[in-house]
Parts: sequence; C-alpha cells; structure tokens
Amino acid sequence: MKEPLRTQNPWRLFLWKEGGQMPSKPKKPCAYPGCPNLTDGRYCPEHQQKVNSNYEKYVATERAQIIEHAKWLGTSKTEVEGKLAKVGLFNCTIPAFKRLAIIYEKQKDYDKAIAVCDSAIRYYSLVKNHEGEEDFKSRKEKLQNKK
Ligand SMILES: [Zn+2]
Repeated sequence: MKEPLRTQNPWRLFLWKEGGQMPSKPKKPCAYPGCPNLTDGRYCPEHQQKVNSNYEKYVATERAQIIEHAKWLGTSKTEVEGKLAKVGLFNCTIPAFKRLAIIYEKQKDYDKAIAVCDSAIRYYSLVKNHEGEEDFKSRKEKLQNKK
C-alpha cells in the first residue's frame, strides 16, 4: 500500500537525495515501476544503481554542454565553475521541494507548504544556490498572503 504523499516527511525526500535513510522505518516496495523488491531506501539496490548511473550520465552530459557553451561564449572560468557546481543540485533538489510545496498549497495546507519553503531556503542558502533560495522566498511570501 502506498503512503499518501501528504503524510511523508519532506526531509525524507531530502535525505534520500543525500543518500541517507530514515532509521527504523518498515521496508517499502522499490519505487521503480513494476519492481516487487522491498527496500529501506527509495529503490532496491539493483534499481538504485540504475538510477544512479542514469543520473551520472545526465550530469556528465550537462557538464559537457556547459563547457562547450562556455568555449563559444567566452564565459569566465569562475562563472563556468559556478554553473558546473550547480548541475547536480539543480536536478536533484528542486523537484522534491517544489512538488511538495505545490501539493500542500493545493490542499490549502499553507503552514506545511511554508515549512517546506523554509527547508528549501535553508538548504539552498547552505549550498549557495541563490536562484533556488530566491525562488522559495517569493513562494513563501505568496503563501503567507494566502493564509
Ligand atoms: Zn527495484
């Protein structure tokens, strides 16, 4: 049986991205479509590997593209490094936070949506992703106006 999304702790999504797991939780079916294996994490070891390797391919392609564009545009080294550092973060963290905030907002559970924004703001300021930070700051403001 699938746990409804609204009862899930946003930090679990966050921790999964970091490769961590919540302790003392019952095993759940692997999130890979059609896979019957039970797992402590999101995917069973086999599918975790598959997901990781797809992700690595994605990151490698994105990085190659940034470097290629930089050659054409004459982008400064610092700027390129900043962009490269964001590749993984961008793919990994925004969907989870954004999706949750949107779900809570649709349920008119504004306090929870704001709590997700706070987590996102803390996280993005920690990793110095200013776009992410600003995005969730304005999202939070909108939610506070709706309350
Ligand atoms: Zn699996």
